[in-house]
Amino acid sequence: MNKIEHIGIAVKDMDISCNLYEKLLGTACYKKEEVASEGVNTAFFKTGENKIELLTASTADSPIAKFLEKKGEGIHHIAFDVEDILAEMERLKSEGFVLLNEMPKRGADNKLVCFVHPKGTNGVLIELCQEIK
Ligand code: ZN
Repeated sequence: MNKIEHIGIAVKDMDISCNLYEKLLGTACYKKEEVASEGVNTAFFKTGENKIELLTASTADSPIAKFLEKKGEGIHHIAFDVEDILAEMERLKSEGFVLLNEMPKRGADNKLVCFVHPKGTNGVLIELCQEIK
């Protein structure tokens, strides 16, 4: 894996949290995007090389809605940039990690993504992402 691509933070109210993170980071959100297949609305911030993704539920039964209900607001996942997502998925499977999707999915911010089950990663949801070129 190349580097941490972004850190995902689950929030209840996107407008309030967008304002908050604009103040905190001293920079404006550069992209807002809905990922309908995942039931999430996202907002991205850049701080130098790194990115923060805010996530909120767009449907009542989305995974983010369940996460917020169970754990409240906070860090939801850590995403790693990968060169070849299929190769990385194969490598992780062969190491015994459980992937949450069998094939890469289209995620936010022009990425192919795959999630790794947090049960096998000390409770941290890991996202692989490969830039779509
Ligand atoms: Zn993410």
